Amino acid sequence: MHKLHTFHGGLKLVEHKAASTRNPPQQASLPKQLILPLKQHMGAHNQPLVKPGDRVLAGQLIGNNPHERSVALHASSSGTVSAIEKRPVPHPSGQSDFCIVIDVDGLDEFVEQDEVANNHSPEKLIEIVRQAGIAGLGGAVFPTADKINTAYQKGIHTLIINGVECEPYISCDDTLMRYHPDDIIRGVELFQQILNPELTLIAVEDNKPEACEAMAEALEQNKLQKTELVVIPTIYPSGGEKQLLQVLTGLEVPENEYLVDIGYLCQNVGTCAAIADAVDRQRPFISRMVTISGDNVTSPSNWQVRLGTPVEHLIEQSGGLIEKSDAKVIMGGPMMGFALSSGQVPVVKASNNFLVMRDQSIPHHPGAHDECVRCGQCAEVCPAKLLPQQLYWHSRAQAWEKTVDYKLFDCIECGCCSAVCPSNIPLVQYYRAAKSEIVAARKATAKSDRARARFEFRAHRLELKKQQDEERRRKKREALRNKQNADKGAEDPVKAALARVQAKKQAKEGQPKNTDNLTPAQQKQIAEARARRKQQRETGQ
Ligand code: SF4
Ligand code: SF4
Repeated sequence: MHKLHTFHGGLKLVEHKAASTRNPPQQASLPKQLILPLKQHMGAHNQPLVKPGDRVLAGQLIGNNPHERSVALHASSSGTVSAIEKRPVPHPSGQSDFCIVIDVDGLDEFVEQDEVANNHSPEKLIEIVRQAGIAGLGGAVFPTADKINTAYQKGIHTLIINGVECEPYISCDDTLMRYHPDDIIRGVELFQQILNPELTLIAVEDNKPEACEAMAEALEQNKLQKTELVVIPTIYPSGGEKQLLQVLTGLEVPENEYLVDIGYLCQNVGTCAAIADAVDRQRPFISRMVTISGDNVTSPSNWQVRLGTPVEHLIEQSGGLIEKSDAKVIMGGPMMGFALSSGQVPVVKASNNFLVMRDQSIPHHPGAHDECVRCGQCAEVCPAKLLPQQLYWHSRAQAWEKTVDYKLFDCIECGCCSAVCPSNIPLVQYYRAAKSEIVAARKATAKSDRARARFEFRAHRLELKKQQDEERRRKKREALRNKQNADKGAEDPVKAALARVQAKKQAKEGQPKNTDNLTPAQQKQIAEARARRKQQRETGQ
């Protein structure tokens, strides 16, 4: 029996999962158009690899970004690319973004697959995950290949498989565990093949007895070594990586560190199934299990859906809206989800649930809240041990530095604080807005820093070139001068002057002296006269 621990705060929430798990999951039909956002993950935007008019096949790579951290994008059925343009995408801001739009031909033709090979090396398995375009299905949509690669490089001792689906209404992971446990266990086996952990813990909450049973059976049949199924109490948000680690081990991840830094890797059950699909069936990540739930949809249910399917198509498949004039669709759960701006918003890699509600039954309305009464309840329930009230004040005052001081980025946006706030303050919305502002400001600063660095480098390069040019010109001038001197036969002026004096002296010595033609008596007289003059000069007389 695995020893369990608790984490600070959290909530016991009323469940609404029974309606969508009443029946087995179904295969959703193909829509007329698939809308595939070029960015569905945490990381850089993909570049389109197709253009309007191109015919594409299911599983064909249609978007990628080989230079930065990103997740490959594949066509989720066959058809013709009709546009690459901005369309509404699932985002808290309700923004639009570039999407590849495919007019579906209904043939659902797949790209040809190579022979399936066994016994891949860890590096090859990571590459298969990368090429399959898998992003973490637990909600963060971090590129899975990058996450595994970091764990592979650093080495881990414990693999945690997250089957904890703690939001009310969401049941896609529960459904996956009930109906496809072998795929999940096969994915776990592949993770073990890559990372060779000493221990694997598969965590499932105790409110999912059917899933626990199915997983235990699959584990037994597949005989995975050093792997334990751990049933944990149902407390929201125990599905958060850091909270789950705390429940399973009692450990808290140090500030500014990740699980992998202390030897753990956490992966969602859906990600495991997607990896099994990629490795064993060579199927890129083009469909996923999605829950349609809420009080305004006729038949809450779970669907295996092709990515890019508009949410209104899925709602129609689920029997349609009960109250058409008063509908609100939220992607995710009531705690962490956000409202969608249009029924045309597509299913993306992160879409676990569409909560279809009557507008009046949604508890929090931005702008319509009372003032903070400083009751402190938000701090009591915060699983990240933050001070939500202070974060709220500073977010509201746009004092961004203060929000960072109060560890805004440790907030997992679980919504516990908003749920207990007696003033109905939509705290998480304030935090999300603050995070977006800070991230945008940091990006702008990084951009201007890069521009300044580029400018300074260019100025330095130009100055260096100027100096080199000047030196080159000086050497050229000197060489030219030397050449001209050599051409003229010119010599050193000092040497030349000395040579001239020498030549004059020699010429003078060669001339006959004035006294050579005189008689010896005359020469004697002259010599005596010279001696006298010399003596007079010397004596001064
Ligand atoms: S729960 Fe709401 S009212 Fe109470 S301290 Fe927190 S923000 Fe203020
Ligand atoms: S949303 Fe953030 S601040 Fe609020 S309880 Fe959750 S972690 Fe704490």
